[in-house]
Amino acid sequence: MKVDWLIVGAGFTGLVLAERIASQLDEKVLVVERRNHIGGNAYDHYDENGIMVHRYGPHLFHTNSEKVWRYLSQFTEWHPYYHRVLALVDGKKVPVPFNLNSLYAVFTPGYASKLEELLLKHYGFGNKVPILKLRREASGELQFLAEYVYEKVFYGYNLKQWDLTPEELSPGVTGRVPIHISRDDRYFQDKYQAIPKHGYTQMLQRMANHPNIKVLLNSDYREIEDEVKFDGMVYTGLIDEFFNFTYGELPYRSLQFEFSYHSVDAYQEVAQVNYPNEQAFTRISEYKHITGQRAYGTTLSIEYPLAYRRGQNLPYYPVPREENRKRYNLYLSEAESLNQRVLFAGRLADYKYYNMDQAVARALGVFEKQVARGKKS
Ligand code: FAD
Ligand code: UDP
Repeated sequence: MKVDWLIVGAGFTGLVLAERIASQLDEKVLVVERRNHIGGNAYDHYDENGIMVHRYGPHLFHTNSEKVWRYLSQFTEWHPYYHRVLALVDGKKVPVPFNLNSLYAVFTPGYASKLEELLLKHYGFGNKVPILKLRREASGELQFLAEYVYEKVFYGYNLKQWDLTPEELSPGVTGRVPIHISRDDRYFQDKYQAIPKHGYTQMLQRMANHPNIKVLLNSDYREIEDEVKFDGMVYTGLIDEFFNFTYGELPYRSLQFEFSYHSVDAYQEVAQVNYPNEQAFTRISEYKHITGQRAYGTTLSIEYPLAYRRGQNLPYYPVPREENRKRYNLYLSEAESLNQRVLFAGRLADYKYYNMDQAVARALGVFEKQVARGKKS
């Protein structure tokens, strides 16, 4: 078999690149995927009870990028959805990201109002403060608040999710969920927030649905690379694996999902409830809240974090911290020495904690700068 491009991985990154190459350059692409489905970690499907679920945990699409939004909108209609999250703190369900409303959920009205005033004075309405910054800067009553939020919302969650304290990770990780000096309870504030109306899988299937694209499932690229002739390769798998772990393994975090069906209309108040403290799991997600599906009964997933072990579970999260970045950079130098014969992109190949919109933006960028440049378009 001869194709122009071999693309390893049928997640967001691989399929955006396949779609661009096929439709804009009229070149032939073979996408090879280890799993038995497309979509990577964004894969969704109807479970045995007819409820649409996200196989690898809740996926909420949000972006400020007009370009990404327009690009994906060619392949789907959208179901508008604003994600809201509660966290169980001292037996109470508290809005997260921690915000002015959360103060009133955990403290007496008088004390909450005092803390609100201090936050407004120091940071100004509408601003966001990462917990590590608040903890560094705060004094007096605000220091009490910083310690409270750090201990009750972040510390235990981080130990479970990463097996590390917040300080042992790049500040960008806890910075994803900063304290909001506002009453906006939404988990994200991006301009565009929505779920593909008929699911991520269908949207991605439509991208792959082009006469120049073939998708081979249940296959590792190493099984077929000698039998397929190709001019270029895009690799979206683990970068350390590509180079046979020459510089040692990069760490990843994995998750174990426990799905269950319940014969009630709704199990919890919102789509996601976080459990930062006592429980062994980090969060419970209920999919009907996200998809807006009307159906009898409801399905949820409980997430138990654990270390990634090659061959035993899946690599869901790169672990953003300095020592891992250094090791990744060694692999990046190897990748660069291949002189563009293989292009690396995606959450695993770039070893970056990308959201879906960032994965799409990265893939579009690789297409424009490294694939299409100098070719017909
Ligand atoms: P992946 O989805 O990991 O796809 C890579 C694919 O390559 C996989 O299917 C893999 O099987 C395949 N592959 C790897 N090696 C090989 C090989 N050797 N041969 C063949 N195939 C191979 N993002 C958001 O924007 N919002 C969210 O709410 C959100 N929630 C998330 C929740 C969880 C629990 C997780 C884990 C991620 C979440 N994300 C979310 C991130 C989102 O999943 C990623 O940004 C996106 O899926 C990245 O796409 P990708 O194609 O780079 O990687
Ligand atoms: N986080 C936390 N407590 C929470 C929610 C988030 O400590 O209740 C921290 C934790 O480090 C987590 C990070 O913020 O890994 C990012 O959270 P996000 O919800 O973005 O994680 P994801 O959906 O990517 O797993």
